[in-house]
Amino acid sequence: MIGFEYPAHPHQRRHGPAGYKDYGSFRDWLRDEFMFRCVYCLHREQWYSRSGTFHIDHFVPVSADPQGALQYTNLLYACTTCNEAKADILGLPDPCSVPFQECIEIEAAGRATAKNVVGQRLCDVLRLNSAANLAFRSRMIRILEALLRSGEVALYQELMGFPAELPDLRTKRIPRNDKPEGAAKCYFALRERGELPATY
Ligand SMILES: [Zn+2]
Repeated sequence: MIGFEYPAHPHQRRHGPAGYKDYGSFRDWLRDEFMFRCVYCLHREQWYSRSGTFHIDHFVPVSADPQGALQYTNLLYACTTCNEAKADILGLPDPCSVPFQECIEIEAAGRATAKNVVGQRLCDVLRLNSAANLAFRSRMIRILEALLRSGEVALYQELMGFPAELPDLRTKRIPRNDKPEGAAKCYFALRERGELPATY
């Protein structure tokens, strides 16, 4: 469904920052890594006006594995609603190993439909069909469709494109980077080279 297409393939991490002493320092890496949207519900930074709407999610909660607190491969980018619903619950699929498109689908009316047991777990734990989530999703779909119908390309691109404020990961000072080649392909660098797609 427009605006809510789950990835067809498991996410392959492009960045590998390491050695930070606090997990907040990974934020810009994760924003770029996961395209400025929640890995679970696909809500985008561009759809919100305030900072702080997105959290850093510990895929395996720190309560279950304190070692993973500062491990980049254990960190995901998620909206506050999903992050708070997930809390310390274990057993959700990892978007870096499971293609979410095979598990879950958003229907035209905004409802999240599970395609298998893994998708059902996502729906249940994250309450993807709560009244608030359904209302928001349905409204976004109707807005995006109306913009396309009426040819309001600029506003459509604003909602479905990248945020204006992109982090330039090439300039980040980090203790260690296990994938140094990734920063050259950050979205800031793509925009500089004129290679940033208008929408995604
Ligand atoms: Zn979310």
